[in-house]
Amino acid sequence: MKVGVFGGTFDPVHYGHLITAVAVKEIKNLDKIIFIPSFIAPHKIDRSSSSPIHRIEMLKLAIKGISYFDYSDFEIKKKGVSYTIDTLKFLQNTYDDIELIIGYDNLLDFSSWKDPDEILKMIKLVVLKRKVQNEPVEKDKFYYASEIIETPTIDISATAIRKRVKNNLPINFLVPDAVMEYIKHFNLYKD
Ligand code: ATP
Repeated sequence: MKVGVFGGTFDPVHYGHLITAVAVKEIKNLDKIIFIPSFIAPHKIDRSSSSPIHRIEMLKLAIKGISYFDYSDFEIKKKGVSYTIDTLKFLQNTYDDIELIIGYDNLLDFSSWKDPDEILKMIKLVVLKRKVQNEPVEKDKFYYASEIIETPTIDISATAIRKRVKNNLPINFLVPDAVMEYIKHFNLYKD
């Protein structure tokens, strides 16, 4: 089975993530995409996110009934800072063909990730690039080792969604209805 691993904070998961994931699955002919919410993302240590329970519950609601979408609570259960290398080592027990999906911005600082060379030996690096993004001035070995694919540009961010909720603005069409109801029910993102 060939799987794509899609990590993130997912606070909340939104249609930008979901539409992109479908596109990657089709372009790369993957069997499924596994969404993995981080407990604490290494680049977001200084920022508080919603409880991991809420983040994973919203993810479950968003992918419910979609056979080619799955999730893992490995990072949430492990706690601490979520390093991709640890997650991949765990996933390798189950999957032998893993493609790690990262954003183009992540590629530009991939050398600062924990054990980037080891990661590269374990998986194939698939990078999402929007048409508008420019090539880096200096291309490193990670750039050359990755497969850059063009995915649709869906201009939605979790930050914008949280801000809209806080300002009592609607978030229909940005997140699945079940996620919207969950946010309302638990009064998330109000302060
Ligand atoms: P925040 O606004 O809170 O930083 P986010 O919307 O960027 O969150 P993350 O959970 O940080 O969401 O993102 C997880 C992954 O999804 C990252 O690799 C990120 O690049 C990617 N991603 C986020 N939003 C989009 C989008 N609209 N289209 C494509 N990929 C996205």
